[in-house]
Amino acid sequence: MAERAENAELRTDFALLIDGQLVGGEDSLDVINPAFGTIFARCPAAGRAQLDEAVAAARRAFESWRGTTFEHRAGLVRKMAQALREHQSELAELLTREQGKPLSQSVAEIDRGAAQSEGMVGIEIPVETLVDDDQRHIELHYRPLGVVGIITPWNAPVNLALGPLVSALYTGNTVVLKPSPYTPLTTLKLGELLRDIFPAGVVNVLAGGDELGQWITEHSGVDKISFTGSVATGKKVAASAAGTLKRVTLELGGNDPAIILDDVDPKAIAKKVFFASFVNSGQVCMAIKRIYAHESVYDELCDALVEEANKAKVGNGLDPETELGPLQNRMQYDKVRSIIEETKKSGARILAGGDVPEGGGYFIPPTLVADVDENSRLVREEQFGPVVPILKYSDLDDAVRRANDTRYGLSGSVWTADPERGRQIAQRLEVGTAWVNQHRATSAFVPFGGAKESGLGRQYSAIGLKGYMEPEVISVAKG
Ligand code: NAD
Repeated sequence: MAERAENAELRTDFALLIDGQLVGGEDSLDVINPAFGTIFARCPAAGRAQLDEAVAAARRAFESWRGTTFEHRAGLVRKMAQALREHQSELAELLTREQGKPLSQSVAEIDRGAAQSEGMVGIEIPVETLVDDDQRHIELHYRPLGVVGIITPWNAPVNLALGPLVSALYTGNTVVLKPSPYTPLTTLKLGELLRDIFPAGVVNVLAGGDELGQWITEHSGVDKISFTGSVATGKKVAASAAGTLKRVTLELGGNDPAIILDDVDPKAIAKKVFFASFVNSGQVCMAIKRIYAHESVYDELCDALVEEANKAKVGNGLDPETELGPLQNRMQYDKVRSIIEETKKSGARILAGGDVPEGGGYFIPPTLVADVDENSRLVREEQFGPVVPILKYSDLDDAVRRANDTRYGLSGSVWTADPERGRQIAQRLEVGTAWVNQHRATSAFVPFGGAKESGLGRQYSAIGLKGYMEPEVISVAKG
């Protein structure tokens, strides 16, 4: 695990985007590179008056933007995807510095964001004829809502901005976008690219702290909130949005179970299960966070996963060898360390990792734990970091019950040699997405979102896009 102070000069070439202008902020944010734990950049942060300006600009822009066609808006989104690809290497490097993930994964995040954006604008939202007889003609239209406030977290700042951004713009809304204060920089650079593509005011990008998020959710000029983040904040957002009955899409945390059946070859699935758990050092909403393995394959699976954990290269994301970067911020690093300490004290068996090295960077090795109490924090809470419990079961019904015994319901998976058996068990998981022999497979054409406290509404697909629109019935009496 490479540790050294970063000596690069402080980067300050960042601006907010308000009404088509790149501007400074009423305040500023220091941004830390988590591989070193040191500040490497400073960017502007918006005050309340700047939020008012951005919302007013978005409202003005909405008047003409709402009248543009889907085709026109799709064309501009495609230009955006092209611009992302043209600037991919500089954006990816910045993303790795602020977020920590390996450079290859930053490149993949931008690639994927561009491809998903293009995929989404291929989806049609046609006017539907509900009744057409001698007496009546009834149609169902979908119209844009107005100004959409988009609030994003720090684990995948580009991808999690692009999903809601493209959904909102393509369906004829205008946007005020606020990234996490931990990772504002790549999103601000995205704003610079968008300035040259979309008319002034259609997209506004404001960095700022949590209070800026709250002001957006309260603002009477904002019609919808698309929020991605923790369950706790999601509940605050829903309560605050209720003041003006804003529409909300909430993409919240998960505690995804993976159920490993008795018929698998543990060695054959270990690599997939390992990376579905530990990619981005476990800081993925839909990472596997609890592994339930049948007793007949338990020991072999533990051994195979430990082998993967011991092979994985942890380090600075800019090092080409690195497979797992640091935790993104100090708060998350401290939280995961305390979960590991608590787990150790409880008498659980640490199979791999567990010892956190000294140093300035927020590195934690991939940690696998056996014999964990089902009521421990590691099993009950969303750890959102590189420590995963492997739990044993003997009865499949019991495994399904334990997998569902949580307030979370984002996604889950079943691993088996028999895909049809897997499909049937998958249907019993209380989640938004249940995969068989895979995990984290999403697409622009497939709705994604959480059951239970993992969210409200869906992103992607026609279902997701309609969440950015108001259904309106036009009912005509004939004669
Ligand atoms: P967070 O809830 O702390 O913050 C998310 C965003 O909300 C940030 O921009 C923050 O500034 C803002 N915010 C904070 N308080 C606010 C308030 N009162 N009102 C409005 N905005 C406010 O989440 P995080 O720690 O940045 O992200 C990690 C969480 O996000 C995890 O729980 C993870 O599972 C979840 N997540 C979910 C998905 C999904 O698609 N379901 C995707 C990625 C991450």
